[in-house]
Parts: sequence; structure tokens; C-alpha cells
Amino acid sequence: ASLVTAPPAAAVAAFPYQDPTLPVATRVTDLMSRMSLDEKLGQMTQAERGSVSEADVTTYRLGSVLSGGGSAPSPNTATGWADMYDRYQNAALATPLGIPMIYGVDAVHGHNNVHGATIFPHNIGLGATRDPALVERIGRAVAEEVSGTGIDWNFAPCLCVARNDRWGRTYESFGETPDLPSSMASMITGLQGGTLNGPASVLATAKHYVGDGGTTNGTDQGNTQLTEAELRAIHLPPFEAAVERGVGSVMISFSSWNGAKLHGHQYLITTVLKGELGFDGFVVSDWNGVDQIDGAPGTSAQDVRTAVNAGIDMVMVPVEWRRFIDLLRAEVQAGRVTTARVDDAVRRVLTKKFELGLFEQPRTDRSYTSTVGSAAHRALAREAVAKSQVVLKNAGGVLPLARTGGKLFVAGKSADDIGNQSGGWTISWQGSSGNITTGTTILQGIRNTVGSGTTVTYSRDGSGIDGSYRAAIAVVGETPYAETQGDRPGGLGLDTADLNTINTLRASGVPVVVVLVSGRPMDVASQLSGWNALVAAWLPGTEGQGVADVLFGAAQPAGKLPMTWMSSASQQPINAGDGKAPLFAQGFGLTYEPSGEDDTSPPTAPGTPAASAVTSTSATLTWPAATDDVGVTGYDVVRLQGTAETVATTSTTASASLTGLTANTSYTFAVYARDAAGNRSPRSGTVTLTTTGGTGGGCTAAPSTQSQWSTGYVIQVTVTNTGTA
Ligand code: BGC
Repeated sequence: ASLVTAPPAAAVAAFPYQDPTLPVATRVTDLMSRMSLDEKLGQMTQAERGSVSEADVTTYRLGSVLSGGGSAPSPNTATGWADMYDRYQNAALATPLGIPMIYGVDAVHGHNNVHGATIFPHNIGLGATRDPALVERIGRAVAEEVSGTGIDWNFAPCLCVARNDRWGRTYESFGETPDLPSSMASMITGLQGGTLNGPASVLATAKHYVGDGGTTNGTDQGNTQLTEAELRAIHLPPFEAAVERGVGSVMISFSSWNGAKLHGHQYLITTVLKGELGFDGFVVSDWNGVDQIDGAPGTSAQDVRTAVNAGIDMVMVPVEWRRFIDLLRAEVQAGRVTTARVDDAVRRVLTKKFELGLFEQPRTDRSYTSTVGSAAHRALAREAVAKSQVVLKNAGGVLPLARTGGKLFVAGKSADDIGNQSGGWTISWQGSSGNITTGTTILQGIRNTVGSGTTVTYSRDGSGIDGSYRAAIAVVGETPYAETQGDRPGGLGLDTADLNTINTLRASGVPVVVVLVSGRPMDVASQLSGWNALVAAWLPGTEGQGVADVLFGAAQPAGKLPMTWMSSASQQPINAGDGKAPLFAQGFGLTYEPSGEDDTSPPTAPGTPAASAVTSTSATLTWPAATDDVGVTGYDVVRLQGTAETVATTSTTASASLTGLTANTSYTFAVYARDAAGNRSPRSGTVTLTTTGGTGGGCTAAPSTQSQWSTGYVIQVTVTNTGTA
């Protein structure tokens, strides 16, 4: 009897591949021995749901379907998705061999195409948490929500190392140095679970291989010009970490390396990734990425041949999938693509399908459907939001705000906007402003937090404020974008409307706290002196309560910058260790803890810098000599506001006099150790700052950051001169 549906797991297996007690490799070999060439080509093909019917999946034996960004069934609910998935899966099972299809989505910060799903902070915020265990828990939660809609495969995490803030995908990066994306590859473990066929396990994708974040000028899909040693040192480590964590798939980058498209790069895909790194999963191309190989529009025989021979196993060919199959069949029949290469690709794809347990349980496990947007997942997201907040400035300790007493004013285009705080890849590909899904806005979070006696007044543009308020909170920044549309070759500053909003608040004389909702550091150095506090909130997602938690001290600020914060946009690219003087170093982030209680000092910390000898216009900054460091020949003190300026250079003396300080003003100084060649090389980790206060006014110094990278160190200290002349 011919098989029209896969037999239930309990049924007696007609063929070895249907026997779950046999090793996966045996099952794959048996199945492949029964497959025609066209059945194999189908396994190498991924079509977009909008361009493929259920009948097509059966007729063409398609191996995979995807939802491109925002492509959702109707109704766009957990059940709507699960029903759609089951229809496609039933179509795949209704083939003679009953090979299940695998369905992929971009659940890049939660199951973000699905209305009502929990939306977590984008990766840049997760990078700021420096908490791989938290990110693993998030991966688990996302896997549950994804599984609850039937989906087997997530095109996440993005492990790009974003080296230029102009890049529109900067927010998809966990950080600008390879250590952060590498450690956050823990998300893979969360997504895939302990074993791929465990409960709510979803195949993860490390993307985009390799060097996507290193393109010249930060141009999306651009060219990464680096030596092989540099490429390996900066961009490859996160993929090594992903392979170590058993990632099931790797997606190729649209970008080029030294002019050669990654989609056709046999050396990087086959020799390095599959060979050297030992990646045993399958390689998927990016959306129409194969088309770009020959430089001409559309899928050509050359595109297909080059991509498959380079080592791509499954081609994301959303619309022109029939043409792709025809071209690949012709290439195989002409011997330009070997059957051995096809068999290797199909073996890799089928192995993951067997490992996922798709042959035994191909349909949606509805027991997870109720986890979509669940209270438990929203609580986890709120925790992540709070931990991702980076307090960059807190003059006079305006933060945390008291929960009771007086009146508060809230303004700004992102104060009450779920879409803005979620960013791109939310409900639609580009994301959008407005009430696009369920969640708590930052304004709602603030209202939830204050005591009943405290009024919170909101106006989008700040109008209506007067001097009677205790503090004003401006929630401003970027509006949603994704990929190329987010590239910013020009300025990286706030727009005029945001600046006007902040200035309206400032004119009232009320202390102003700026909360920046953005997918990257922004160019704010020239405005910062007029703001009392600055918090980088990144793109927090649906749980705006987590932002309020930090503003009011319900949670301690724990976030540390995953990226160097520019002093001006012209510094781009600016990255840790490149010797440029930033506004805030990578790793910087204030806490509300009193000085001296910060316990994150690296073991080799040279000690504690201090601002002392306080008068109203001068202070002496003292720091411990780097006796335990090699190669240090002296120090530079750089003032980081506005145009970075070197204000002192010393040889072995570990102190410098700072003069010309204005009362009631904050300054940030970085102390760099210098080697004989004049290099200033930061390293990461935070040391505690203690300060000796003066009488009759004086300097207070906020916790400093000491960044450790290779040799030398940088101490960053904010001195607030509260003295009067
Ligand atoms: C993006 C990928 C994404 C794919 C599928 C592409 O445009 O570059 O990151 O996984 O679309 O939606």
C-alpha cells in the first residue's frame, strides 16, 4: 500500500526510516535511498507562504516554507498560525514518502510576527545585560511561544558584530566586540532546548555568516574589507560559539568579503564553517541572496550553481522557487552540480528534521499555544528590560525618582507608543509606530509605579509643563526600521521634534531625564550638558514597565554599554580598543549603589581612581599606578564632553590637576594608560570610584568604568562640581 500520510508513531514502521528506534543516520540513509532527484531538490527549497499553496507543497515535495518579516496568516493569532502550520504540514505528509516540511520565521525578539506575543528587547539591549543565562531563558520562552504556533525553526539569533552604528541592523547585534555575541549564543541553547526533540524545541539559526556587521560605512549588504586574520578575530568567534552550542542552521550574509559575495563563498562556507569549525547542520541562504551572486537580477543558472557548490544546502527562494528547482535540476543533469553535493545538502536537512522529531510528531503541539504572550513570559521580558537599561548620566542623583509626592511630567514621541519601543521586526518587517500589539508603554509603566498621591501629566511635545513639576521625563529617539532602511550615512542625532520637546521641558527649569529609545548609540554629546540624566533604553519591546522599574529604583540599573558611545557621528566607526576618545566607553553604565559597593572589578584591576582636593573650579584626579600592567609608559586624561580634548598627559605620575571647572556641572574624564607606541587600548570591567569630598562644595565622582582589552586601561570618571566660587 502506498503511504499517503506518515504513520502514527505507534504504528509498525513499513520502512527503516520510519522506525524511531533506529539511529538518525540510518534513517536518513534509508530515506534517501527511496528519494527521486526531484524529491531531493524539494528538500533544498524554501518558499514564502504568500507564494506557495498547500497543494504546491504536495506537488513539488517542498521541504520548507517561511514567513518573511510580518507575513502572517489570518487571523494573526497563535491559533491562526497553528492551524496554518498544520495545513502545510498535512500537505507535506500527503506525499508518497511523507517527509515533513520545516517552517521558518524570524522570531528575533520574541515571536514578533504574532499579534499578542511577548516582545523582548532587541539584541542590543540584551547585550547590555551582560547576562548569558538570562538570554538563554529568553530563548526558552521564545521557543515555547514559537512551538505553540507550530513553527519549528527560528532565524535567530543574529550573531553579527556591529562595528559601525550607521548600520541599520546595529540593534540586532549583542555588541561590537566578539565576546558579547559569542557569550549570547546561549540563546541557541534556550531555543533548541537540551535536545532537539525535547519539548518546545525550535531549530536555531546563527546569522548572518560572516562579517555582516563589518561593512564599509556600515552599509547594509555591503562589503567587509578586512584581512582574513581580522575577519577571523572579529567576526568568526560568535559562529564558533554557535557551533559549539550545536546550532542547527546557519544563514549566509548578503554582504561580501573583500568584494566576493558570501552566498558564493566556498572557502568560507565549506572549508571554514563546515570543515574547520565542524558545523554539522545545514546552511540556508538569505532572502533571494543567491540571486545577487552574478550581479544580474533574478535567479540564474550561475547563481544556483555557484551557491550550491559553495555549500548552501537550502535556498530561501521566496517567490521564484519553481524556477530555482528547474535550474538546479538542469545543473545536476549537466553534471555542473554533483549528485554527491545534492546528497550532502539533503542529508544535512533531513538529519535536522529527524533530530527535531518531526517524523514522529509533525503537527503542532497545542499545549504551548497558551504560552504566547503569557504572564510568565511578560514578567521575564520585564526583567530583561530592567537589566538592559544603561544609565549614562545622573547629575545630582536625580535618579531614581521618588514614587510619591509632587507631580511628574512625561513627554516625547516614544513615551506612549508600543510600536516605537518595539522597533523593527515587530508585527511587520519594518515595524511601525502606534498601538500595533499588546503591551505596556513606558508611560503606562510610569503611571503604574507612582503612588496614588502623585500625578503624572503627559503631552507628546512637552507643552503644558511649568515649574511646578518635580521632574520631567522625555522619551525620545528613533522610530522603527529594519535592515537597509535603517542605514544612516548622515547624522545620528535626535530629530528636531525630539530636541524641541526636550527644550520645552528644560525651559521650565524642571530637572529633565532623557530616556533614549533607539536601536543604537546616538550623537547627543552637544546636548548632554543640559540634561540632568540620560538613560539608554534601547528597543525594550512590549514591557515598558521594566523601564519604569529602573527610573524609580524598583530595579537597580545593571546595563553596561555593549557598544562604544560616540562623541560625534564623525567618529564612526568607533569601537573599543581603537584609540578614539568616546563619550562613553563600551562597558560604561552607572548604578545607584553608593560608591564602593560595586563588585564587578576585574581581578587585575589596578585600583581606584579618586577625584580629590576639591575647590569650586579645580580638582585633582588621582588614580592608582598600573603597577601590575605590562608596557604602560604613562597616562592621558581626556575630557569627553563635546569635542574630546586631552587635558593632561603624565609619565609615571598617577594624578593630574583639572582646572577651569564650572560649579554645578558634570564632566566626564577618561584616564588612559599609554604604551610606548602611544596606543591607548581599553579593557572591560568596572572598578569602584571613591572620592574625597571637600567642604563648602566640592566634587563628587560617579562610579567609573575601567575597560580592559589588551594592554593598558581606561578609567572613566564623571566629576560633578557642586561647589560655589
Ligand atoms: C533578512 C534575514 C531574515 C530573512 C527572512 C532577510 O531579509 O536579512 O535576517 O531571516 O529576511 O525573513
